[in-house]
Amino acid sequence: MPISLLIALLIAFGIDLPGPEVPGSLVPFRILEAAGGVLLIAVMSFGLGGWVASRVAHAGYASGRVFRRYIQGSRLLTMAGLGIYAWIIHGVGWSGLVLSNWKLEGSILVDDLAIFAPFLLIQLATWSGLYLAERALHGARNCPPWHTYLTLKSRQAIGLTLPVILIFVLRHDVFGRLWPGWHRHPAAEPIELACLGLSILFASPLFIRLAWPTRSLPDGPLRRRLERVARRVGFRFTDFLVWDTGGMMVNACVTGVLPWFRYVLLSDALLDSLSPAEVAAVFGHEVGHVAHRHLPYFGFFFMGSLALISLAAGAISIPEAWVAGLPWIDPSDVSQATEIAEAGLLLAAAGVFFWLVFGHLSRRFERQADVFGCKVVSCGDPDCPPHFDFDEEGSPPAEGRPRPLDGLCPVGIQVFTDALSCVARHNGLDIRARSWRHGSIASRIDFLRGLQANPRGEPAFQRRVRALRATVAALLMATFAVALFTHSWELLP
Ligand SMILES: [Zn+2]
Ligand SMILES: [Zn+2]
Repeated sequence: MPISLLIALLIAFGIDLPGPEVPGSLVPFRILEAAGGVLLIAVMSFGLGGWVASRVAHAGYASGRVFRRYIQGSRLLTMAGLGIYAWIIHGVGWSGLVLSNWKLEGSILVDDLAIFAPFLLIQLATWSGLYLAERALHGARNCPPWHTYLTLKSRQAIGLTLPVILIFVLRHDVFGRLWPGWHRHPAAEPIELACLGLSILFASPLFIRLAWPTRSLPDGPLRRRLERVARRVGFRFTDFLVWDTGGMMVNACVTGVLPWFRYVLLSDALLDSLSPAEVAAVFGHEVGHVAHRHLPYFGFFFMGSLALISLAAGAISIPEAWVAGLPWIDPSDVSQATEIAEAGLLLAAAGVFFWLVFGHLSRRFERQADVFGCKVVSCGDPDCPPHFDFDEEGSPPAEGRPRPLDGLCPVGIQVFTDALSCVARHNGLDIRARSWRHGSIASRIDFLRGLQANPRGEPAFQRRVRALRATVAALLMATFAVALFTHSWELLP
């Protein structure tokens, strides 16, 4: 999910400001200001794209340093784009122009689109400038033409944000009109959000296929190998899809939560650069996330965290006397300033909790999926080679051999770590770069090599992850119970 798009939606619609009407004489000036903001982003992104292209042309190849500068630069550009959009909305008063001056308030979707239009222009300007860099880094032959690149990017953004937009429009414009009485009921919001959220989750493969151009993986040795892996580990799915990224991304994912409506996506560059056994190992990693039920656990974790935040909201209180003591606060603003400070404190506490706990869980789960990926291509003999390949076409029946998924073998671990380094190399990632959700590639590889050296390490690791899951779950259940109890207490007459 593109986080920047979600933040932009929040900037546009999160704060319900109708926006005052702009005096008629100022309207052209305000439009010019907004256009100036978009132009500034265009200049910055073409500047970055042009700089990268000239560095690559000068050196004759894309060095790791240029790659890193480019990634840092495009992150800064994303933040600048969001900042300028926030300024257009709240500083220039764009929503006031759209809703009050142009009288679009109350129309279905037209008002929302008009409010969002400056951000769309900012996105297009950003992508157009960065295209110069992408073409230089990946080589003109591997990069689609400019208009195809923009279509790919837009399609991806639309497909991935459409669920959020659908929830918003359905609740706001459709339910509100069809059932106004129910819509105003206090229980309406959580129930509507939960139902819409669940249906979107079940339908998510549709949105993914809308977001990315895909085609069914043709029959052949690779497809048959992956099908054998799926059968061996009991993984059900609808189809294997080749994900066309114009050769720009080495990636794989599994979409969907229902076993009979679930796709496995393998990017074109992944299929080009990995051996069939390595593709099977990457597939095994994705199956590992499903087999260990990481997604449902995260769903539960989010619900529990919400309960925790609601409890913390009741517990955090800053004495007004402290705020009143601050010299720069006007006495008439004290209670409002206190509320803002409390909200800020709550937000910061929630952020730290999330960063620590979710980050840690997520990195453990990633390792668990890595171990699963190794096991999928392992023969179960800790002293191999000779290594037995369960999934090679025409390999003898595996009767009498250790059951698959029973244990790790050195060749299996080697195949998986090779795949991991190859993915990093092709995506221009530094294997030592830290990653909040995944951990660095180097640390993941070291961990797997450590398991190879110590046969008892793997069961011990699985026990530790199970204990961590159970502890976090018990704590969240307890907060849930306390939150429910205090709420029902408040509702009593
Ligand atoms: Zn993963
Ligand atoms: Zn082996």
